[in-house]
Amino acid sequence: MRIVITGAAGFIGSHLSETLLDRGHAVVGIDNLLTGDLGNIAHLRDRDFQFIRHDVTRHIDVDGAVDFVLHWASPASPIDYLELPIQTMKVGSLGTHNALGLAKAKKAGFMIASTSEIYGDPLEHPQKESYWGNVNPIGPRGVYDEAKRFSEALTLAYHRYHGVNTKIVRIFNTYGPRMRLRDGRAVPAFMSQALRNEDVTVFGDGTQTRSFCYVTDLVDGILRLMLSDTNEPVNIGNPHEVTIEQIARTIIKLVGSSSRIVYRPLPVDDPKQRRPDITRARTMLGWEPKVGLEEGLLKTVDYFKAKVAAAT
Ligand code: UDP
Repeated sequence: MRIVITGAAGFIGSHLSETLLDRGHAVVGIDNLLTGDLGNIAHLRDRDFQFIRHDVTRHIDVDGAVDFVLHWASPASPIDYLELPIQTMKVGSLGTHNALGLAKAKKAGFMIASTSEIYGDPLEHPQKESYWGNVNPIGPRGVYDEAKRFSEALTLAYHRYHGVNTKIVRIFNTYGPRMRLRDGRAVPAFMSQALRNEDVTVFGDGTQTRSFCYVTDLVDGILRLMLSDTNEPVNIGNPHEVTIEQIARTIIKLVGSSSRIVYRPLPVDDPKQRRPDITRARTMLGWEPKVGLEEGLLKTVDYFKAKVAAAT
């Protein structure tokens, strides 16, 4: 297949591009490099990979046949939403519209990278795809949450009205190599602090929970969904739930760091708990995460060690 990936220079987009190339597909990667990094895709240059630097909130032009469009472009960390609120809303609305328009014009399949954020601060636990969520539309995270909820609605409108073969993956917290050092999310923040023996900043009292999935497991789930015949949203995430304090302690231990934990104010609307119900992924896709938390964190530490060394 020839597959277009928006956000191809990002964390997940670059892993998706690489795995699709490994499986013999051709990839057209599009990115405006707002939060993406060419360094993430430099190693793909000599392969069947074409890169287009473009902002997908404007009309997207791709020559030739396209079999699938994966719309991954978006700022994706809570500090990005604070710094880039309008770009976050535009890429999730205008960008999704353009990416769907491309899929329709090319008679291609389409997948939107949706998110556990559409469940907001969930009142149902664990979160099943049938849960409608508890989102504050006007809070600081609302720009991301509502753009992704709009994206899901528009995706299903294109499916129902235009007959586009659409997929919705709801991605839970994911970690691995190629996250940005200064991304602000828990795993990269704790790793860069621990590697420098600086204080590790736990927000709130650290009892809030997340469930962290290693990136190769996520990519496997996404590609199974792409090839499946379901048009229903599917959660992809690791159901192993930990508190933020636990993950901070685990990272300090794995790094062998002398860092101490310090407590900082909890950001507004920070979800108190999050864990995917993956029954649908298990039954419809035969998918299950394989990489345990410590194993995945160790692989990620190696990447961040090199990044921290290069930055000092
Ligand atoms: N967090 C933290 N310290 C940090 C960064 C994040 O304690 O330096 C917490 C954050 O408040 C949240 C959890 O870790 O409860 C996960 O945050 P992240 O930004 O990774 O993603 P989220 O799941 O909130 O989108």
